[in-house]
Amino acid sequence: MRIVFMGPPGAGKGTQAALLSSALGIPHISTGDIFRANVTQGTPLGKEAQSYMDAGEYVPDGITNAMVRDRLTHDDARPGFILDGYPRTVEQVAELDAMLRSAGTKIDCVIELTVDVDAVVARLVRRSAEQGRTDDTEDVLRRRLEVYAEQTAPLIELYQSRNLLVQVDGLGEIEAVTAAILLAVNS
Ligand code: ADP
Repeated sequence: MRIVFMGPPGAGKGTQAALLSSALGIPHISTGDIFRANVTQGTPLGKEAQSYMDAGEYVPDGITNAMVRDRLTHDDARPGFILDGYPRTVEQVAELDAMLRSAGTKIDCVIELTVDVDAVVARLVRRSAEQGRTDDTEDVLRRRLEVYAEQTAPLIELYQSRNLLVQVDGLGEIEAVTAAILLAVNS
């Protein structure tokens, strides 16, 4: 199974992708997590990414695409994967298409977790307090939601036109959302 998770910041992609990863036995690949790990470790990649992340902007496609391209060649990703937070731009979609084409594989399903904006803001403000993420302050959060609407929302239609899109309401209890996702993935 090759699955892409989409949804605005705060929709619960990370939580659900991790649960689905355990349920299906395929790796959860979160570009945000990989960037944060690099920032924490002070790697060159982390140093490049940090200023964009702290401003709520996307890391440039060239950097992000190269990172994903490398990650998808690891052995654990051969039977399948869950991509969380990638692709987020039209250019990233083209790049992912090219990576999969050369591997002779394809995406099976794109899950969009839908939520309303007020609920998302409330969730992220709480998460910011709990985890101390430097990109969860209110201004940066607003910018992240804007960037999502501008650059990533159009991908929903693109995947819909390929008949890959499944929309799941992200606002229920965690277990109920997971159950709805599993139902969608298995059908
Ligand atoms: P969220 O979904 O809440 O925005 P993530 O952890 O997925 O959080 O991403 C955090 C930050 O990492 C993003 O705001 C962006 O700066 C960077 N990032 C993650 N994925 C991508 C991507 N596919 N393209 C560009 N930047 C990305």
